[in-house]
Amino acid sequence: MGDGERPRVVIVGAGFGGLTCARRLDGAPVDVLLIDRHNYHLFTPLLYQVATALLNPSDVAYPLRTVFRRSRNVRFRQAEVVGVDRERRRVRTATGEEIPYDRLVLATGSVDNYFGNEEVAREAIGLKTLEQAVRLRNHVLACLEQASVEADREERRRLLTFVVVGGGPTGVEYAGALSELLRLVAGRDYPDLARGEARVLLVEGRPHLLPGFAPRLGRYAERALGRRGVEVRTGVQVASADPGSVRLADGTVVASRTIVWSAGVRPDDPLGHDAPRRRSRRLEVDQDLRLAGAAAIFAIGDAAGAVPSGPELPMLSPPAMQAARHVARTIRDEVSGRRRDRVFRYVDKGTMATVGRGAAVAELQGLHIAGFVAWLAWIFVHVYYLIGFRNRILALGSWGLNYVRFDRPIRIILQAQPDPVAERVAGRSR
Ligand SMILES: Cc1cc2nc3c(=O)[nH]c(=O)nc-3n(C[C@H](O)[C@H](O)[C@H](O)COP(=O)(O)OP(=O)(O)OC[C@H]3O[C@@H](n4cnc5c(N)ncnc54)[C@H](O)[C@@H]3O)c2cc1C
Repeated sequence: MGDGERPRVVIVGAGFGGLTCARRLDGAPVDVLLIDRHNYHLFTPLLYQVATALLNPSDVAYPLRTVFRRSRNVRFRQAEVVGVDRERRRVRTATGEEIPYDRLVLATGSVDNYFGNEEVAREAIGLKTLEQAVRLRNHVLACLEQASVEADREERRRLLTFVVVGGGPTGVEYAGALSELLRLVAGRDYPDLARGEARVLLVEGRPHLLPGFAPRLGRYAERALGRRGVEVRTGVQVASADPGSVRLADGTVVASRTIVWSAGVRPDDPLGHDAPRRRSRRLEVDQDLRLAGAAAIFAIGDAAGAVPSGPELPMLSPPAMQAARHVARTIRDEVSGRRRDRVFRYVDKGTMATVGRGAAVAELQGLHIAGFVAWLAWIFVHVYYLIGFRNRILALGSWGLNYVRFDRPIRIILQAQPDPVAERVAGRSR
């Protein structure tokens, strides 16, 4: 039990699932400790805008201590959880600390999945974390700097060819935004680079883009990207990569210094090999989202969310948030002695993706929308869900300015030096 004999709830991961759960337990008769390796909540849907110099990192991230500074029962700790002792009910952090729990909620999300292709994993830049988004921004701008003074034609071409792998929403959004950035700066910031010289290639293994959407919307995205100068290759996978080229499975070799990976993620959790899992490696949970065979542990979001009888839930933010609300309700009921046998049911409210300025696709309750109206809906939904008043205003302001002035203002190459104390707190060194 926690202070004053109140049950102690430990939530690992402060993404969409973990943060929602902690907020729903704010004010409940439990002591909550929210743990994350970062000290901020990350709004992943806008990460590609950080990577393409439209938004600042701070516009899409929100400090977790600020969220709970008025809370009486929710505390935050920055730490990396590396193990769970299910028998003694303790989580272990990278610094060796053991933290006891009465209920544990695992909401640790997912990491990039390279499907065992180590060459590609070594060469590619992912788009999953804020660090990766800033690295990608630095990398693309540095390629332009180097290309603008490069005398060797082959090398210049390599520097100006950008390969994006994965034609799901992230790949489509990034490719569209990157191509807009390149068109904006070529010939202006970089007078030595001609407008058509930079090339963006989007590679998707399945027959059409946006596989999770209706085929009509995938075709719309392909046309809209084509109008923005993006070359789309569908039905072919990336086979290998080295520092100067990418080879596709059909034998095509693309000379490039950049490969951006958005072709898949896999679940990530600190439970180890003996935890019950689905074939997808996501944690297996019962219909109440408890880990199979462990009544005190819940697992939600990308890390789990797969109930034994039904299909796996999509790895998206709405299932993570809905599961979090369900778990918070269950914990509240349990600690106040109320009994209930409620089965978790996911309500699919739809999905959307942008392709570029004024162009998006949306699938809402069976309705398929493409174009400007879908883009306005996309803006509305993302501003609504973005955390923090300041972030909403700044994102809206940046989009408005970009719309009227074609501006991508954050064109700075900024490489932070690792700080030993910050590295230790984040669990990256002991
Ligand atoms: C670029 C991108 C764009 C996306 N766009 C959309 C979109 O438009 N719409 C949509 O619905 N979904 C989108 N998604 C998917 C969505 O982000 C995920 O499905 C959602 O974040 C899952 O929520 P979660 O709580 O399971 O995990 P996350 O939100 O990923 O949170 C996991 C948290 O756990 C922390 N963590 C992990 N392991 C540990 C550990 N061992 N110790 C401590 N902390 C740990 C991480 O730091 C992270 O904060 C996008 C994803 C990406 C990468």
